[in-house]
Amino acid sequence: MDVSAYLETVYTEVCRRNPGEAEFHQAAAEVLPSLAPALDRHPEYLGTGIVERLCEPERQLIFRVPWLDDRGDVQVNRGFRVEFNSALGPYKGGLRFHPSVNLGIVKFLGFEQIFKNALTGMAIGGGKGGADFEPKGRSDAEIMRFCQSFMTELYRHLGEHTDVPAGDIGVGAREIGYLFGQYKRITNRYESGVLTGKPVAWGGSHARTEATGYGTVYFAQEMLATRGHDFGDRHVVVSGSGNVAVYAIEKVHALGGRVVACSDSSGYLVDEDGIDLDLVKEIKQVRRSRISTYAEAKPTARFSSRGTVYDVPCDIALPCATQNELRHDDAVALVKNGTLAVAEGANMPCTPEAVEVFREAGVLYGPGKAANAGGVATSALEMQQNAARDSWTFDQTESRLASVMRTVHAQCRVNAEEYGGNPDNYVLGANVTGFLRVAEAMAAQGVI
Ligand code: NDP
Repeated sequence: MDVSAYLETVYTEVCRRNPGEAEFHQAAAEVLPSLAPALDRHPEYLGTGIVERLCEPERQLIFRVPWLDDRGDVQVNRGFRVEFNSALGPYKGGLRFHPSVNLGIVKFLGFEQIFKNALTGMAIGGGKGGADFEPKGRSDAEIMRFCQSFMTELYRHLGEHTDVPAGDIGVGAREIGYLFGQYKRITNRYESGVLTGKPVAWGGSHARTEATGYGTVYFAQEMLATRGHDFGDRHVVVSGSGNVAVYAIEKVHALGGRVVACSDSSGYLVDEDGIDLDLVKEIKQVRRSRISTYAEAKPTARFSSRGTVYDVPCDIALPCATQNELRHDDAVALVKNGTLAVAEGANMPCTPEAVEVFREAGVLYGPGKAANAGGVATSALEMQQNAARDSWTFDQTESRLASVMRTVHAQCRVNAEEYGGNPDNYVLGANVTGFLRVAEAMAAQGVI
């Protein structure tokens, strides 16, 4: 059988059966061709529909979320949960609250999550969810009512052995608190392990808040080490200024690098002295304001709403905002400025055209499903602590995170070399490693 032609057929079928879901098509187009060498080596996975089943969620939930705003008007949003694959464990993946959320975006995120979760080596399946809700400009009371209405439908599909959501864009500790409270109220169960990303004070794990950003930097550090580099004195650009971005900046600074630029959806900020992280946290986490106000507080900094953060010269770029934010021209600018490495803190932030530019130029490129796996890995550590009614120290948890990231990096390189002859091909290494783990479990569990 011509395996590449077969995978092309599967991809065509994914596009036909999921019309208009551009991001899901994009994620499938990235993964499917890279499975060819794995299927050549494991023909037993052909003919069992494993690839076709991987591309079809086990369950897709779409539901109405009605709620009352502060004026007493009824608002109606749409909620989603895509339970994609449970071969390795309960569905696991975050909830995103953002006006752009639709089924195709949730499916791309859920599909990526299958491979990412498998890569961590932990017993977690893949899922993702969210709502087309805009939290910006909403009061605390409105956020609470929205979360309560969302959970009033979603609760019946969750459980610590069934489906365990966490945060993502627009869902942080505040939202997880409201969601957990409503789940507890409806079910009359204190089931700590049903949501991760909880505050440490009531069942959360130390280092979960920091995990995705820290993990991305650990992954980048491992990539740099393969060429004899490290973060010391390096200039770094980070996109976004949310959860992932903030803790990526914190870890870069701890490792001796200097983050000179970050952004939000209104533009980017340059501070050649190094981004003042306390100020960013105050603006984005406490005041929930725009990153442009940084430049008002610190006159040496410059804010721009034109161009992108990738126009700022850097040695290392960490895209930590959203999908498809780093495009072909951004990649060309980074290469021109001599960037050594790009590690994705966000999910699919680089377009395929940008990734091709990095590949041609020999820039080290760590795809999100490997580079940002530290978040979900630490969520799995939170589940372990909840199951044991235990709480580990920050250092204990962070050292587990660091070890997971080293292992993920090493496995990507080993399989990239074994299945494609080039250890720097992290895309191939991540996809093949994740696929082989899930495929083995799916084959053993029969056609379900
Ligand atoms: P947050 O909501 O905390 O932050 C998102 C940040 O990205 C905000 O600063 C937001 O700006 C900015 N942003 C959104 N769109 C754009 C854009 N088009 N251009 C520039 N900036 C933009 O989300 P997270 O930090 O949790 O998530 C960021 C990414 O990381 C997502 O892709 C997510 O899927 C991924 N991820 C998150 C994990 C986690 O543990 N949280 C785990 C693994 C991956 P503004 O404030 O203006 O909205």
